[in-house]
Amino acid sequence: MSRINNRQLFFQHLAQTSDKPIGIEVASAKGIHIYDTNGKAYVDMIAGFSVCNIGHSHPSVIKAIQEQTEKYMHVIVYGEFIQAPQVAYAKTLTSLLPDNLQSVYFTNSGAEAAEGAMKLAKRVTGKTKLVSFKGAYHGSTQGALSMMGDEYFKNAFRPLLPDTLQLRYNHFEDLDLIDHSVAGVLVELVQAETGVTPANKEWIIALQKKCASVCALLIVDEIQSGFGRTGSLFAFEQYGIAPDVLLTGKALGGGLPLGAFISSVKMMQCLTYAPVLGHITTFGGNPVSCAAGHAALEVLLQEDWMKEVKEKEQLLVDQLMHPAIVHRNHKGLWMSLQFDSSKLAKKIAAACIQNGIITDWFLFAEDRIRIAPPLCITKNELLEAIQVIQKSIHQALQE
Ligand code: PLP
Repeated sequence: MSRINNRQLFFQHLAQTSDKPIGIEVASAKGIHIYDTNGKAYVDMIAGFSVCNIGHSHPSVIKAIQEQTEKYMHVIVYGEFIQAPQVAYAKTLTSLLPDNLQSVYFTNSGAEAAEGAMKLAKRVTGKTKLVSFKGAYHGSTQGALSMMGDEYFKNAFRPLLPDTLQLRYNHFEDLDLIDHSVAGVLVELVQAETGVTPANKEWIIALQKKCASVCALLIVDEIQSGFGRTGSLFAFEQYGIAPDVLLTGKALGGGLPLGAFISSVKMMQCLTYAPVLGHITTFGGNPVSCAAGHAALEVLLQEDWMKEVKEKEQLLVDQLMHPAIVHRNHKGLWMSLQFDSSKLAKKIAAACIQNGIITDWFLFAEDRIRIAPPLCITKNELLEAIQVIQKSIHQALQE
């Protein structure tokens, strides 16, 4: 089928989510690059929204997928048969987590992990109120959407879940509103969609104390911040806290769909009775996804990329400058560049694409562009990408 045809069919038969899709027709992707059907190479400076932390199509991940598909791809639902790829991945993951995070519930996506954790909080505490923060993004399903901290994106879909509350992020005084009626608090340690907004460490510690004092579960969403993005496997390691429930997704699957909520064995047992099958999924924890994710994690642990994150972050801080950038937020290999209008930010993102760099804006911060390359990007490649971004800013300003 010709390229023209695919473009037409894309608009005709695939549901669209915006009026201006990027529309690059992908031929292949390898390492930090995506190649289109004309043979043009793009540096993926957003790593497929922090999915491809070890780069695209890593040979170890491909090998693990091939080996698993030759054995089996699907048997009856998750939680019934013992499937070696799930068991092995859960064992490795939990060996890297605190003692209270030893039971993994695999899902298909990040939003489903958030849904499962919200249900778990209700079941464990016997309470109903769920708290999140303004500017939060936890997924697009209706429960996760209820926890979103942005009225514009929620309003068209009301009624949503009752008994939810959004507090101000990084505001100590708002923690007083978390009382004994609260079942769980969902929080991102780095708010992704406001444009990489890190939580204040003292505030997170105070939030954890508050949750413990009112018997509410602290549910930490590391779906975007996980797997080395901030310089440690999970960002919570840098905050000196242990979540009651950890949400993960995106890079968890090494490029295949996978999410998980992780808690203690005791808490997770609540999903096995009253009612039995408290949370079920047909495809969550698919063995091929688990094999791929496990292989990707092994690569991440073997390579030096996580150790190099801080150095590469500093390189971005020192080199990615331009008078048109009004503000930068950053945490690890993850940065937002703010411009004085969303129109300018969009022009710059378009110029970047013309010049072979993929960036994007943020859901709640359209005046910013997103920098989150695969962690395997070399310092030289990063410097080259920085120069192209600067050139693109210059070009967009000339238009
Ligand atoms: N939580 C955070 C912080 C996210 O960034 C995302 C996705 O962007 C989600 C949850 C939802 O994940 P998914 O798109 O896999 O449902």
